[in-house]
Amino acid sequence: MPLVALACALSPPMAMAAGRVRLAQAPTVSADAPTTAPIIAANPRLDSLGDLTRMSFDISDATPLRAFALADPDRVVVEMPEVEFRVDANAGRAPAPTSNRAPGRGRKPVDRSAVASAPRAPLAGVVASYRMGLFAPGKSRIVIDLAEPARVVRAAIETDASGARRLVVEMARADRPTFLAEARKAQATAPPPSSPLAPAPTTGKPVIVIDAGHGGVDDGAHAASGAMEKDIVLEFARNLSERLEKTGRYRTVLTRGTDVFIPLGDRVKIAREAGAALFVSVHADMLVDEPQVSGATIYTVSDKASDAQAARFADKENQSDAIAGLDGAEGHDDVADILYDLTRRETRSYSHVFARTLVDYFGEVAKLNKNARRSAGFRVLKAPDVPSVLLELGYLSSDLDSRNLVSGDWRDRVSMAVATAIDAFFKNRGDGAGKLEDAALGLKASFNASARGDSDQADH
Ligand SMILES: [Zn+2]
Repeated sequence: MPLVALACALSPPMAMAAGRVRLAQAPTVSADAPTTAPIIAANPRLDSLGDLTRMSFDISDATPLRAFALADPDRVVVEMPEVEFRVDANAGRAPAPTSNRAPGRGRKPVDRSAVASAPRAPLAGVVASYRMGLFAPGKSRIVIDLAEPARVVRAAIETDASGARRLVVEMARADRPTFLAEARKAQATAPPPSSPLAPAPTTGKPVIVIDAGHGGVDDGAHAASGAMEKDIVLEFARNLSERLEKTGRYRTVLTRGTDVFIPLGDRVKIAREAGAALFVSVHADMLVDEPQVSGATIYTVSDKASDAQAARFADKENQSDAIAGLDGAEGHDDVADILYDLTRRETRSYSHVFARTLVDYFGEVAKLNKNARRSAGFRVLKAPDVPSVLLELGYLSSDLDSRNLVSGDWRDRVSMAVATAIDAFFKNRGDGAGKLEDAALGLKASFNASARGDSDQADH
């Protein structure tokens, strides 16, 4: 299924958001990290001159660039070594279709990952919206959503007479066949995605993989206060990881420990390669049209969504890769090709057990959504052999939740409840480590082609 075009809502200009300025943070520990000053890009501008649309940034130094087209949704991606983007938090956002654009009053939270099926009004020329940030360690991207097909005619660093440097990307209006041909060419020459994974050491302890949603070029949801989902969930993931490690009973792996983009397929791969006994993906999204809705929701994967809202939410989360300018083929993982239906069913029933346990413990310390257990086709929960849940901590569209989500007290209380739920889950599963793996191995061994046609029977 082709991905639906993405749209971002507009919120009135706000002051430079600190989190945004520090977007391109270097990975924390590296013995041979370069000591040179970061390259800084600032002051983005868009000019439309007839068929030509010109995007430019002031940039502090020369750097190699690569620009290419991606189709469905139609984007232009500019890739370069790590660059620190010092830009306003609202830079690149498209106007919301329902916004009256009146500044000040009724500031609306912004859902940068919302799905829009209607054609979008351009910011300028062929550009509907754009975003930028760290795509992978050492690699930054500018992702430009196109309002109409275009061809990159130039991507370069220019130096003017005064010595000032500018990053310039020029796009010319093109017909769709020309655009698609460019996109195919880009795909054929794209380097294979790098895998950040190292083999996991075995400790005998159950491995809990904690997945902070979004990151880098994919901000996730934005609160009216300027708080961003990607930062909130990273804080929470770190807190939970520390808490679990301190018990001495678990080994934890974070899918990301910094503000970096990780493709959905890689998140699943990290869990599988770490031999995870449990995968918890952490989010804090928003419901733009329902600011009164609040409280946490725990999702499991299912082929059929529990309700229409869960289905919409899964569709939106599944577009994370597209938001970051990843081609559908680039982010493809092998999970979908694995037909261990029986193992998958077993895994799903464990996921349901953990989700129920988590609802119980969470409800003791913080507010749950009135429909707190839901399911839908989340790509990030699709490891066939790792019980997986997605914990939506709350909604950034709700004032109540927004206040809680940035409170250290609330975070401590909730992460303690999650850790207790994890304890309860492993206690009830017996020895915890290995039991599921043994069951899965047995099932894999007895798996035969006749299981292929079975549909998922998980109890959602
Ligand atoms: Zn999210």
